[in-house]
Amino acid sequence: MTGPLSIATRLTKPWSDGAGPITPPIQQTSLFAFDDYAAFEARMMGASDEPLYTRVQNPTVAAFESMMADLEGGAAAVAFASGMGAISATLLALALARPGARVACVEHVYPDAYRLLERVLRPMGVEVSYHSPEAFAEDAELLRGVDVAYLESPTSMVLDVIDLPRAAAHARRHGTMTVLDNSWATPVHQRPIESGIDVVVHSASKYISGHSDTVAGVVVGTAEVVGKIRDLTLPLLGAKLAPFEAWLLVRGLRTLVPRMRMHEATANLFVDRLARRPEVTRVRSPGPNATPGLTGRSGLLSIELAEGIDIPRLADGLKHFRLGVSWGGFESLIVPAAITLKQSGEKNAPQRFGVSPRLVRLSLGLEDAEDLWADLAAALEVAAA
Ligand SMILES: *Cc1c(COP(=O)(O)O)cnc(C)c1O
Repeated sequence: MTGPLSIATRLTKPWSDGAGPITPPIQQTSLFAFDDYAAFEARMMGASDEPLYTRVQNPTVAAFESMMADLEGGAAAVAFASGMGAISATLLALALARPGARVACVEHVYPDAYRLLERVLRPMGVEVSYHSPEAFAEDAELLRGVDVAYLESPTSMVLDVIDLPRAAAHARRHGTMTVLDNSWATPVHQRPIESGIDVVVHSASKYISGHSDTVAGVVVGTAEVVGKIRDLTLPLLGAKLAPFEAWLLVRGLRTLVPRMRMHEATANLFVDRLARRPEVTRVRSPGPNATPGLTGRSGLLSIELAEGIDIPRLADGLKHFRLGVSWGGFESLIVPAAITLKQSGEKNAPQRFGVSPRLVRLSLGLEDAEDLWADLAAALEVAAA
C-alpha cells in the first residue's frame, strides 16, 4: 500500500515530468496570441481555456496555484498580488450570496482584515459580528443565519487557537461558509480543509515566500468558490499576481518544509527558555496539540514583558532582531504592540486587537538559534536594568 507522497517530496517535484526545465518558465507577457480565427473565437466563447490575458490567467501563476491547491488539499487555488487581495476578493465574492449577508469574524483578527470588514463591507450593507475563538467551537447556534465565518487560528498578535473540526461541523449544519487565514501555520503545520474548513487564504508574503522579497496572496478551496472568485472578484477588482512574483513563490515553496522545521526548532528553544526568564510574564506560542489539527509550532510568537522592562531599550539593544512589520522571512524581527496600536488609528485598539502594550511579537528567522537567544537574553538584561 502506498499513501500520498509527503509534502516535502511533492514540493520538490521538478516542473517537467520528463526532459525539460525543472522550474516553470517565467511567462512575462500581458497577452497570449492565437493562431487563427477559430481558436480565438473558441477561447472568447469559453469553449477552450487557453491563456488569454495575464490579469485573468498566466501559466507561471498557474504553476504556483496548482502547488498551493495540492499542498492545502483543495480542489483549486487562485493567486493574488497580496494577502489582502486574496482576503478581500474572497469576502466580497461570498458576500454576494445575498444582500445584507452576515459575516461572523473571530476576535483579534489581522487589523487590515478588520478594517476591510468595518470600512468596506459594513458600509455596503454586510452585517458583521465578532466572537471569541471558543464561541465558534462551543456555541452550536452561533452561526445560525450566518453566511460566512471568517477565522484565523491562531489569531493575530495574541495567537489564540480555534478548534477547527468542531467549528467547521457547526458551520456545515448551518450552511455557513468557513474561511480560514492559514498564514501562521502553513500547510506544513495545519491543513484546515482536512478539518472541514471550506476556504483557506494566505498572505504568501510570509512563510510561503519565506525570503521577504515578495508581496502575494492565495485562496484555496472548492471548485465552486474558487470559480466564483476567478469569474468575478479576481478579474474585476484586478489584484492579480504577476508572473515573476509567482516564480519567486514557487522557488520559496521548494524549501518550505525545511524552513518551517528550522523555525520550529528555534521557537521550541525560545519557548522553553523564555518560560524561565523573570522579565517575561507570558509566552504566546501555540504548538502541536494546542488544538486539533495543529501539528507544529511556527516561528512567530508573542511575549508579554513584566512592568519595568523598557521596551524601546529592549528593541534598541538587539543586534539580530530588526524592527519591522511583516514576518515569516529568513530574518528575525521584533514588533512592539504599543506602536502598532498607535498606528492602527482604531479607537479601543487594545480591546479590539486583544493586545496589551506590554506585548512584543517576535518573528524568529533562520539565523542560528543560539546566536538569536544570546541576542535576546542580553537585550532583556539591558532593558531590565
Ligand atoms: C500580513 C498578513 C495578511 C495580509 O497579507 P499581505 O500580503 O500583507 O496583504 C493577512 N493575514 C495575516 C495573518 C497577515 O499576517
